[in-house]
Amino acid sequence: MKFELTDVQRDIQKAAREFAEKEFDPDLALELEKEERFPEPLFKKACQLGFIGIDYPEQYGGQSLGLFENVLVIEEFARKDSGIGISLSLADLGSCIILKHGDESQKNRFLPPITLGRAVSSVVFIDPSHSAEEEPSIAEAMDDSGEYIINKGESQTPHGSFEGTFIVLGTGFDPGKILALIVEKDREGVMISGSNQMMGMKISSIRKVVLNRVKVPADHVIRGRDGEKNPLMTYHQVHRIRTSAQALGISQGAFERAVRHAREREQFGRKIAQFQGIQFMLAELYTRIEAVRSLVYRVAFAYDVQSPDLEVLTSVTRLLATEVAVKTTVESIQIHGGVGLMKEYSIERMFRDAKTIQNYEETNLVQKALIARKIVFS
Ligand SMILES: Cc1cc2nc3c(=O)[nH]c(=O)nc-3n(C[C@H](O)[C@H](O)[C@H](O)COP(=O)(O)OP(=O)(O)OC[C@H]3O[C@@H](n4cnc5c(N)ncnc54)[C@H](O)[C@@H]3O)c2cc1C
Repeated sequence: MKFELTDVQRDIQKAAREFAEKEFDPDLALELEKEERFPEPLFKKACQLGFIGIDYPEQYGGQSLGLFENVLVIEEFARKDSGIGISLSLADLGSCIILKHGDESQKNRFLPPITLGRAVSSVVFIDPSHSAEEEPSIAEAMDDSGEYIINKGESQTPHGSFEGTFIVLGTGFDPGKILALIVEKDREGVMISGSNQMMGMKISSIRKVVLNRVKVPADHVIRGRDGEKNPLMTYHQVHRIRTSAQALGISQGAFERAVRHAREREQFGRKIAQFQGIQFMLAELYTRIEAVRSLVYRVAFAYDVQSPDLEVLTSVTRLLATEVAVKTTVESIQIHGGVGLMKEYSIERMFRDAKTIQNYEETNLVQKALIARKIVFS
């Protein structure tokens, strides 16, 4: 394994950085956050430049690159602006399931609209909460049509109001078998309603989604090939890595802002960067961020070569990367003093976004439980 980026990877990193620097305007971010609005024009531009779906094969509108390159882009986007960066990186949420387990016609039909900026994808988890007397949340049609019916399901979804698809994950009569179904947002029985007023990730425009007796045609069922790992595992591994990249970008961005402020701000006749207390804080943050970057790059590489230790490595990385993001943003607020609490400085938003990504999907306590299981029982 090489510890240097290739020329192509450096070019991608540079292009993503330049795009974010030019387009992610701080005033626009404040406006988007206030309105909890998905930045549709930025999404379209990012698609035109090939940043979205960079890891899809070219025939589906991608660049035929890997998750590693995807991580480089996410890091640069979140570094410049946590809210816009997270929002754009969630635009193809869950599409890794179609990419890895879908058939040719599903890939041809559902992936190109994402890379063309016409649609987004996201994931809806359905709890397998049915008892013996109740009908299951997802049921196969009684005839031999291959259709499924989602009886009931409720969740939250990013980019709720924008056109696209859900990848619905849940179980039917057999609780051991994960079902993955593609459901268009405009399908009958899908209801998307108002904002949940989250603490962070506001630019991801999180909305409530309710599924009620949704009919899913046979050609929307992701069946996968025999012997493949289950789609839920694919999703969790990819999502942990991408969340770690968001966290890394937020940490780097908050750290750079702290350094800049410490070099500029004067108190008691000198720059605050000259106080050893501030220097030690910066040294510790720098050390943690370097460690996280090594881990995030390693795990993205491990995914692209399908390394056997991927499962635990993705949990370890997500746990550390999000913890460091929360710590870095809090300490960056500290170094900024009073202005760190003001909306215009965006550090407080970075903290809110960092805390939110730490708590969504599989939380950090869940990661610890998974890591502990691996240590104790394998
Ligand atoms: C911004 C945002 C976006 C979201 N987007 C989506 C989406 O797109 N699709 C979707 O389906 N859902 C989405 N969700 C829902 C999200 O997946 C859940 O909020 C998340 O999984 C946490 O589940 P919960 O809220 O039910 O907490 P709970 O599962 O009730 O957990 C409560 C507490 O118990 C801890 N805990 C739970 N299990 C264990 C365990 N085994 N060991 C130790 N501790 C444990 C948790 O860490 C947590 O601290 C979103 C949530 C947020 C905040």
